[in-house]
Amino acid sequence: MGYEKSEAAFEEAYRYIPGGVDSPVRAFGSVGGVPPFIERGEGPYLYDIDGNRYIDYVQSWGPLIFGHCDPEIENAVIETAKKGLSFGAPTELETALAKEIVELFDSIDKVRFVNSGTEAVMSALRLARGYTGRDDFVKFTGCYHGHSDSLLVQAGSGAATFGAPSSPGVPADLTKHTLLATYNDLESVKRCFEQSEGGIACVIIEPIAGNMGLVPAEESFLQGLRELCDAHGALLIFDEVMSGFRASLKGAQGLTTVRPDLVTLGKVIGGGMPVGAFGGRAEIMHKLSPEGPVYQAGTLSGNPVAMAAGLTSLRKLKANPSLYVTLAERARKLMEGFEAAARSAGLPLVTEVRGSMFGFFFTDEPVKNFEDAKRGDNEYFKKFHRAMLDRGVYLACSSYETGFISTALDDALIDETIRIAYEAMQSIHG
Ligand code: PMP
Repeated sequence: MGYEKSEAAFEEAYRYIPGGVDSPVRAFGSVGGVPPFIERGEGPYLYDIDGNRYIDYVQSWGPLIFGHCDPEIENAVIETAKKGLSFGAPTELETALAKEIVELFDSIDKVRFVNSGTEAVMSALRLARGYTGRDDFVKFTGCYHGHSDSLLVQAGSGAATFGAPSSPGVPADLTKHTLLATYNDLESVKRCFEQSEGGIACVIIEPIAGNMGLVPAEESFLQGLRELCDAHGALLIFDEVMSGFRASLKGAQGLTTVRPDLVTLGKVIGGGMPVGAFGGRAEIMHKLSPEGPVYQAGTLSGNPVAMAAGLTSLRKLKANPSLYVTLAERARKLMEGFEAAARSAGLPLVTEVRGSMFGFFFTDEPVKNFEDAKRGDNEYFKKFHRAMLDRGVYLACSSYETGFISTALDDALIDETIRIAYEAMQSIHG
């Protein structure tokens, strides 16, 4: 495969855009080489400007559960756009999407739309602090909740990839209320509660972590968090920006009995358009402006085109919930294939699957938290990623990310990917 046009495009982009990209992970910094510049997507495939075709397991980092250019979503976007792109005034589309979400999640009585996952989490955190009147909160190392100041501490995703968990430009004053705990380790959370002087407003967690690779929380751990939060009058926030409508129709909440007080959503609820949302119990959401004193706003929030894309996606998912069974089967088949391919090449590999989400680490130890995840062999990952890309398989370009299966990926493409994975694993030693 040639990448000449992408190389030239990257050089040109570099002149005008820092790092040539609008979000750091995209620059391929941790795997090396030039990122393919994308010309278009179609169903399960991405096409770059050099004419290379890839089987896409990134799907815009999660939103595209129906693959690229789903005709119904495309049509909803076009028809809505014809009526105007934005009004900054209420539309019935917002209520329709809100209603779908409220009906699906028993933890959500009311929901507000924003434009990104970052905004959703930032707003939920403010609301939790406003509701409880407390400043401190607990987050877990390796969990990524967007790039707002107080959450950019020991974060996963790009922040982990680049080895800069905390960023310059974030005043220490703004992170002094961020208490760090270890994923799947309840004792570390108890210590945070003991250490906090002013009290904990909330514990925020990715109930299925997808930003240190794919690392699910254990059920007993989530139950322990619920009990601790209840005992201390703190709120429990599930950040389901990634796992929402991905792990199951009800996200992680379809796979656990634990219910959070607040939930953040994004990615799939926008069907590929920029959308985030946060919701929860009525008495908490009631504190939000204009009903209550906690301020939060957005010029383009609830944008009609984005709402139409999200609404169409959610209705399609709701109409056919069994598709999650198929997606999970394909994810499992893919991971079993990767494991067999690694074994045949004498390489260590552990894998994880939750619904349409999958992850793998080049290690033979179980991965339960960020420290475990960091033991994965990055050199193997880099070589594997490159070998797959050169053979037409587009995987997330960091070992701290999650892969996704879309409904556009059929069994034949999974088989094809596994066949390529055998070659790629063999090439790692070569
Ligand atoms: N929370 C989680 C769990 C995420 O995975 C992400 C993005 N990957 C975010 C928040 C931030 O979302 P966005 O990139 O839309 O701001």
